[in-house]
Amino acid sequence: MTYSYDPQNIFARILRGEIPNKTVLETVHTLAFHDINPAAPVHVLVIPKGPYVTFDHFAAEASEEEIVDFHRACAQIFQMVGVAPGGGFRAITNSGADGMQEVPHYHLHILGGRVMGPLVVR
Ligand code: 5GP
Repeated sequence: MTYSYDPQNIFARILRGEIPNKTVLETVHTLAFHDINPAAPVHVLVIPKGPYVTFDHFAAEASEEEIVDFHRACAQIFQMVGVAPGGGFRAITNSGADGMQEVPHYHLHILGGRVMGPLVVR
């Protein structure tokens, strides 16, 4: 399986500084910023800086250093935005067409600040 990364996607442009963002945290391999159209009081997007299209791509091909950096960044963000330890949160990643992914650069949505409701529409 090969993955094709589009370097013109909006998050690649954010990473290159071509589009502004409201940064929550930046580490060596990871950037986190507020979603432009928040679906909850807390809505942060966490992205690897590397060119990974989806969660499956990142999980398969990112280095151990990138994977650890990403998840340790998440741990910091949960505390920074006050969701954990605390009221809790939902972490979602949409992948591919069935997952209705809009931006083809892997990102984790961290949603919280209210009860998030059912996971999916059945
Ligand atoms: P997806 O549907 O791919 O999982 O989610 C893409 C998310 O990116 C959406 O929640 C959307 O609001 C957010 N988004 C799209 N364009 C921008 C942008 O230019 N800046 C920021 N901060 N978020 C964006």
